[in-house]
Amino acid sequence: MISSSHPLVYSTQPLLSWLIPYDHRVIVSPLDQATVGAQLAATIERLNAAPAPGWFSSDARYEGQFAGDSFTLNGPIANRRFRLHTRGVLRIDPAGTRIDLTLRLATAYLLLALGQVAFLWAWALIVHFPLVLVLFLNSFLYIATTLTVKYEASQIVQRLLQAAGPPPEPEAHSAIVSDGSGWRCGACGGYVRRDATFCKHCKQPFAR
Ligand SMILES: [Zn+2]
Repeated sequence: MISSSHPLVYSTQPLLSWLIPYDHRVIVSPLDQATVGAQLAATIERLNAAPAPGWFSSDARYEGQFAGDSFTLNGPIANRRFRLHTRGVLRIDPAGTRIDLTLRLATAYLLLALGQVAFLWAWALIVHFPLVLVLFLNSFLYIATTLTVKYEASQIVQRLLQAAGPPPEPEAHSAIVSDGSGWRCGACGGYVRRDATFCKHCKQPFAR
């Protein structure tokens, strides 16, 4: 559900971001800058404290720093995933707070991608591989890289959007009530087990 109480995100260079592994986005939050700053600092602190994923895991880890009205975020730090360098600047906006975001492929990964292209060309020249096919392979690598960066950028933006929004409402809890002969869900009235943790009918969790 989109409403004015939720932060909005838009891309300032939608075309450019499809052409190069770089993205510039703006999040507009209805909350004031101090609140957004505190929530972002807490999010970055939580990301920094997350345990390192196992060797074979592709789970993401992010490392960031928050200072005054700007922050940086590096990640995902994971196997087989491109790492992005994200920088954000907070500004006061008529609607609340504006977060200017630049997301780009981390330098080491950019060099790696360029190295793959150079290797492909060198290899093709040495073995006299048809250049049309090399061009095709290069385009494929290029599109795959751009799409992957776009995907990782949206993962990061999702996390920042959460931090720029109002804190989540406490989860609704239902109670288990007795009707004399059995136990019922207080929300929907369906019969449940006395030790159930959630209602099998309406899926509401029961307060412990
Ligand atoms: Zn129920």
